Amino acid sequence: MKIVVDRDLCESHGQCEYVAAEVFHLDDDGEVHLAATVPEDLRAKVQLAASVCPALAIRIEDES
Ligand code: SF4
Repeated sequence: MKIVVDRDLCESHGQCEYVAAEVFHLDDDGEVHLAATVPEDLRAKVQLAASVCPALAIRIEDES
């Protein structure tokens, strides 16, 4: 699964990490880091993260 976080939009709210900590991690500077690989069975969690992101900064590139 290919996930893109638009860092220009991201406001470091952290909701993505809250709902999908396996995929999203905020460092001490509030920058979002993604897991190197994201298995398909986490797709629902990533979709949830994208839907709760207040900045609409998360995109799943290969979503059909
Ligand atoms: S929820 Fe959205 S705005 Fe907040 S840290 Fe994650 S990507 Fe950034």
